[in-house]
Formats: sequence, structure tokens, C-alpha cells
Amino acid sequence: MTGKYYILTLGCQMNKNDSERIKTILNNMDFLETEDYKESDIYIINTCSVRQTAEDRVIGIVKNLNEIKKKNKNFLVIITGCMPGRDKDLKEYKKFHKNVVDLYIPINEIYKIPELVKKYYKNIKYTINYTDYLDLEATREESFRAFVPIINGCNNFCSYCAVPYARGREKSRNFKSVINEVADLKKRDYKEITLLGQNVNSFNPIDLNECKSGDNPYNHPFACLLWEINKIGIPRIYFISSHPKDMSDEVIDALKLENMGNYIHLAMQSGSNSILKAMNRKYKIEDYLDRIDKIRRIRPEIAIGTDIIVGFPGESEEDFKETCNIYKKVKFDISYTAIYSDRSGTVASKMPENIKISSKKKKERRNILQKIMEDITLEKNQKYLNKKVSVLVDGKEGEYLKGNSEELKIVKFKGDDKLIGEIVDVYINKVQTWNLYGVLIKDN
Ligand code: SF4
Repeated sequence: MTGKYYILTLGCQMNKNDSERIKTILNNMDFLETEDYKESDIYIINTCSVRQTAEDRVIGIVKNLNEIKKKNKNFLVIITGCMPGRDKDLKEYKKFHKNVVDLYIPINEIYKIPELVKKYYKNIKYTINYTDYLDLEATREESFRAFVPIINGCNNFCSYCAVPYARGREKSRNFKSVINEVADLKKRDYKEITLLGQNVNSFNPIDLNECKSGDNPYNHPFACLLWEINKIGIPRIYFISSHPKDMSDEVIDALKLENMGNYIHLAMQSGSNSILKAMNRKYKIEDYLDRIDKIRRIRPEIAIGTDIIVGFPGESEEDFKETCNIYKKVKFDISYTAIYSDRSGTVASKMPENIKISSKKKKERRNILQKIMEDITLEKNQKYLNKKVSVLVDGKEGEYLKGNSEELKIVKFKGDDKLIGEIVDVYINKVQTWNLYGVLIKDN
């Protein structure tokens, strides 16, 4: 063993999956992962830029590392993830991080890690070759469920979002590379995959035509991918995030394929057309509702989740009411509701102060929407009562095994630990807002 490394991952599933790829690099250099950062020789922070608070947290973490740095001159601190791509802000952060951080590496340049580490550990062997960081094999934490990135970056420039600045423009992974990874996961008996990207349905790889099977019925590249992946036979396939404007009829049609999970996430952000326009979302609420109708026509029982931002600059009481009304009309299964906060460099952050919404009002609106969501979720969950649901068991909580139904509802039941990683049927006998409880059907 050459030394030990510690990775702190902040933010979304994409970052978690990126950290699994960083582990592959460090393991290959014969470093060992440690859960105690104080005993690490390399400390990597995989950062998130979605909210200011996430970036500010990094300042505090780096400050704490100063003491270790003083004691261990070979202690390396690397910042990767979203922050290193935000050049303008990074100048500010570098002032705080002076003398502690050794390298800022945009996530798609993590190939630089071995070169840096070699300066401090002379005899390191590094044997991995790759051109696109997404082609690096992930060191997976779970042996039954995996995230598979297919695209990185975003071209959409929603007016509130820092991601296009942090991660750059969209770059699709090669079709063949995605297919190979999924086929390998199938060989290893994985039960569930989630295709990942900031905007998965604008996936457009350069090798699409040479990789697409002759009998693939679709032309839309993402629909083509779903069809090919379905053939491989992993029992549950999900994807996140998708943009409503790229949710073509073919992608919606592909939701009916045999192995597609019974859940889709489609960010609405607001129910008001004037706010959607100010957000630069490139669709009207009528278009969004049309997509939802089509999805439900293709797959009537599908669970639908969404993202909503409350308190966007200029959001009037009327705009907010429209969001609440649309929520009640669609009856989402879940919403990740965020309070708007300025992200430096974005168009929304430069909007006039006098149209910005007070923190108090934003919190009030979030609470109202939260209550609507909880009432609707509980109401919708009643349909699972006294029914059988299929569950991928992913762990234990107290006396219960727990896992996700195909609709990504959390299901708890009693059973043997050896069922972790398996898909089983559970008969539901109690429903709550966030949990369904049941009994294992014995002939699984
Ligand atoms: S689609 Fe919009 S919200 Fe999503 S990552 Fe791109 S710019 Fe950000």
C-alpha cells in the first residue's frame, strides 16, 4: 500500500458516481480508502455548486485540513467536482484555500490526479488508460444497483442554474461504452440501473448509427439507447434528469419497454408561464402537461416525481398559486422543492433586487407546497394497500428490511438479511406518506 485516501462527496448522484470513478484511479495507484480523514494522505473533496451553502461548506472543510497539512508535508488536498469549473468564483475561493489545496481539477480532467500524486510518491505505478473520464470503470459500493452516466454538462442555461458554467457544455458518452458497462453489470447480476446526466434525454453520441441494431424502432438517440439497454435484460431501468423539452414522443413510447421502472422524474420548476419564461426553461406549462398526459397514456400507473423552485425573482402570489394548482392537477408522487437562491454568474442572480422574494415568503411558500405534496402522496399511496409490490431490497433499518418498489416508494417488511440485493414481492398492509409496510410473500 502506498498510502490512504479519503473522498468527501457533496451533492447529487452524478457526484457520487464520479467519486466511484476517482476511487478506481486511487486504488490503481495502490492507495487504500479510509473512513477516517485524519489518517489520510490524500483528501479529495468532490464539490457541488447547486447552492451557495454547498460551496461555502467547502471553505470550512478546507480550514479544518490546515492542521493536518502542517503535520504531514505529503498530505495532498484536491478539489474536484463542480467548483473548479466556475473560474470566476474559484478566484475568490482560492483566497480562502491558499496553502491548503494542492490542485483544483474539473471533474472531466481527473486523469491529472496520478501526475500530481507521482510528485510526492516516486515509485507509483498507474496502469489505466482512458480518454473520457466516464469510461473509467466505477468502484461500486453496491453489488445490485448502479448508476451509469451517459452525458455530462448542460447546454440549457436555465437562468438560475450554475451547472452549465461548472460542468461545461453537454458531452455524450459513446453509445458502445454505455452498452458495454450495462452488459457487464448484467453479467454481474445487477438488478437495477439508473442512467445519469444533467439532461439524459439530449444524449447524442457520435457512434449512434454504427451501434444501433437494425431492428431498433427508434430514431431519437436516447430512445434508441433505452431500447438497446432493455434488450440486455437488467430488470429495472431508470433515468435522471430529463428535460421536458427533450421528452420526445419516442422517449415517452420507450417507457413501455419491458424493463423500464415504473417511475419517471420530470422537473416542472414552476406552474406559471411567466416564471418558466424568466427561468429560460424553454417550454410552457401547457407543453409540460401535454408530456405528462402522453406519459400516462403510455404507462397509466407510472409514479411521477418533479423538481420545483419556489420564490424565483418576480414570483407573484398568483404565479405561486398556479404552481400549487398544477401540482394538485398532476398529483405528483413526490417533489423536490427548493427555495430559490442566487448563484453567482447566473442571469437570475442579476435580476433587480426589488423583484427578489424575501426569505420569509420563500419559506412560507415552500411549506405550503410541502403540505400539498404530503397530502397528495399519502392519498396516492392508498392504492398500494392490500396489493402486492415488487421490492429491490437494499438494506436494513431496525427490525425491518427496506427497499424500493418499482415506483421508488420505500417499502419496509421483516425478512432474512440474505434478501438484501434481491427483488422480492411484498404484500402491503399499511401505508404512510413516505413508507409502505408489508409482509414478505414467501414463494419469492
Ligand atoms: S437543464 Fe437547467 S437546471 Fe438542469 S442542469 Fe441544465 S441549466 Fe441546470
